[in-house]
Amino acid sequence: MSSLQPVRGTRDILGEEARRFRLVTETFRDLAQRYGFAEISTPIFEFTEVFQRTLGETSDVVSKEMYTFTDRGGEGLTLRPEMTAGIARALLSGGLAKDLPLKFFGHGPMFRYERPQKGRLRQFHQIDAEILGVPEPQADIEVIALGWDLLSALGLGDKVTLELNSLGDPESRATYRDVLVGYFRQFEEKLSEDSRARLGKNPLRILDSKDEGDRVLVANAPLLSEHLNERSTTFFADVRRGLDALGVPYTVNQRLVRGLDYYSHTAFEFTTTTLGAQGTVLAGGRYDGLVEQMGGPPTAGIGWASGIERLAMMVEVPAEAVKPIAIIPVGAAAEETALKLAHRLRRAGFTVEHGYRGNVGKRMKRADKLGCAVAILLGDDELAAGEATVRTLADGAQGRVALDHLEQHLQPFK
Ligand code: ATP
Ligand code: MG
Repeated sequence: MSSLQPVRGTRDILGEEARRFRLVTETFRDLAQRYGFAEISTPIFEFTEVFQRTLGETSDVVSKEMYTFTDRGGEGLTLRPEMTAGIARALLSGGLAKDLPLKFFGHGPMFRYERPQKGRLRQFHQIDAEILGVPEPQADIEVIALGWDLLSALGLGDKVTLELNSLGDPESRATYRDVLVGYFRQFEEKLSEDSRARLGKNPLRILDSKDEGDRVLVANAPLLSEHLNERSTTFFADVRRGLDALGVPYTVNQRLVRGLDYYSHTAFEFTTTTLGAQGTVLAGGRYDGLVEQMGGPPTAGIGWASGIERLAMMVEVPAEAVKPIAIIPVGAAAEETALKLAHRLRRAGFTVEHGYRGNVGKRMKRADKLGCAVAILLGDDELAAGEATVRTLADGAQGRVALDHLEQHLQPFK
């Protein structure tokens, strides 16, 4: 029955994968807080214009990938394809612009109507970091360093490469745009349909084309770096100097442009060769024009997002460290004592498995399967004496312990 399958491009996350996800989000939370970022959660859906206006009509996300729908009240809504636009909206609707600079981090599900494949889903998850209100290159250096520290902390430092480029300020981009249009016009017939459409609207995006024919033309296209004005050149040099000072390794990739329209100056991607075709694990850039484009005051911004699924595929997680305590009542009379003891120990901070049914043998087997360290057996004898039998599962050693002393006795198994 197709209705009992998960929707194409969506997945359930459980077991070891859930632990991988948690490792990524918890490592990120810890680091982001050390860097002075505050957590933010924005809604999973927004008015469609929030994304349409900011990501740009010609971006892949807006032109092909958005989950857009009309709700019962007739509002045009879209499931968020990324976090930046929602955070910029929150800045404006929450009147936060007076508190700038602000640093936010967050994580959660994102939605894009893409062709599902390994590492590419329709509901996927991102972690995200943004700095708003800092036009200086210090912000670029800081967010990139955060990304690098995260990947290093996850043990991926030697599996990723940081590629860096400058898209220049709006003036440089305008100059380059003209040069680029001039270049591609010569080959208009040869361009893919998508790229031909972009020629008039956003020719820089042609550089990002995945079409084979386009890529040949792109390889010989004039470089943006040759058209950067002095301000943009200095800015890029400052960013590189900062990364050098911190020992963050990178290579400059002059062909790197980001998919979304709102980027300027710094663009960067951490890529890996270990994931096959979907090799970008963390990507971002500076978006100084975004907040203004939304109708707010001119506000600098820079940030990145990283796909949790892709990181989760790469990290190594240790086996579950918590070894529960199994409580095993022997006979019906002990059920209530077992129930209360489980409750008491959980409140005292222990991890407790309360077998629900079956004889002692069955319950012991289940305790083994769950990786329990200790079993507490409660039989008639024990109850009469106000005691429990405590058995260490690793070696089968056991002894009687007064019920009142259990917390103390079980300290090593906390
Ligand atoms: P791509 O070129 O792979 O389509 P993108 O430019 O669309 O990437 P961004 O919008 O920059 O990606 O998103 C940042 C990160 O989110 C990506 O580097 C990737 O790790 C992850 N990501 C993006 N789209 C998906 C998806 N459909 N499924 C899983 N992860 C994704
Ligand atoms: Mg994409």
